[in-house]
Amino acid sequence: MRQLTCTGPKEIEWRDVPEPTLEGDGEALVRPLAVARCELDPLLVSGLIPQRGPFALGHEGVAEIVALGDGVRGLEVGQRAVVAFQVSCGHCGTCGVGHSANCDAYPVLSDYGMQPLSGVEYGGFLSDLVRVPHAEAMLQPVPEGLDPVALASVSDNVLDGYRSVAGHLARAPGSDVLFVCHGGPSIALYGAQTALALGAGRVDFASDRPDVLTLAEKLGARPVETDFSRRQGRYPIVVDCGIRREGLHYALGSTAPEGVCQGVAYYPTPLVPVPLGKLYTLGIQFHIGRAHAVSLLPEVMPLVASGRLQPGAVTTRVADWEEAPAAYLEESIKLVVQRPA
Ligand SMILES: [Zn+2]
Ligand SMILES: [Zn+2]
Repeated sequence: MRQLTCTGPKEIEWRDVPEPTLEGDGEALVRPLAVARCELDPLLVSGLIPQRGPFALGHEGVAEIVALGDGVRGLEVGQRAVVAFQVSCGHCGTCGVGHSANCDAYPVLSDYGMQPLSGVEYGGFLSDLVRVPHAEAMLQPVPEGLDPVALASVSDNVLDGYRSVAGHLARAPGSDVLFVCHGGPSIALYGAQTALALGAGRVDFASDRPDVLTLAEKLGARPVETDFSRRQGRYPIVVDCGIRREGLHYALGSTAPEGVCQGVAYYPTPLVPVPLGKLYTLGIQFHIGRAHAVSLLPEVMPLVASGRLQPGAVTTRVADWEEAPAAYLEESIKLVVQRPA
């Protein structure tokens, strides 16, 4: 089968690789229909994170179920499903308490399309077939009539945007929220959509990119143009989306006393200075960590299915499957690659 493969820094090509097969009763084989580019993908492709040979790309997508193991309940061949980007069992002690990103059954960072980080190749969604080792936990059926292209990012970045703010708003309903976008913008945009859907007060969106600010405003947020040098207010909930030091400091500086700043980014630099003295004095909580895809999917899918959250509104470029090698290297806010019908 064909697999979109990164063969070196900014080098992407289709390669022929062996088809995966079912290896157990609880597994599925799926055929991806629409695949979104995650905010991490450009970083992986750039070579900034050292590469360990060729690796499969793509870990956000909607797929059709092609085969199921005998032990799988509640899913059918032919059904469409969002595929969790993290490989998690769904039933160990850690998955059981909602921390499925750190599933006991797998080494850390066991994700599709992230071989440079984990050292293990689980395959990528820009392939003809993908093996899903825990079908019941990792596949979330897509209701009939919903467009796979609109839902492609629900595997990862939509969940990330959701969790950046949903829990904090549940603890402080109606709060004003500031998104600080100084990196890949889609998580921040999905987060702003979530905050608006969940009844936040004012949703402000700070960025130095005019195209991103225009889209944020279209989604219902208030655009705040900034170079991140000086804060323009203090907020009880702030979401830090990016990997620039000045962006992080702007986010922390914009957090109100006793407020919370939620980080969603992986900072690749080993040491990033954080003003701990200021956070201590003002009682600011700084949360950072990965989203838990398998645990979040059943919570987020109803919001998407009901139309309260419309991730398709963030997509700015839909490319044909054949175009994927070039499209993956283009600049766009959110790219989705679509398999021909
Ligand atoms: Zn991702
Ligand atoms: Zn587990």
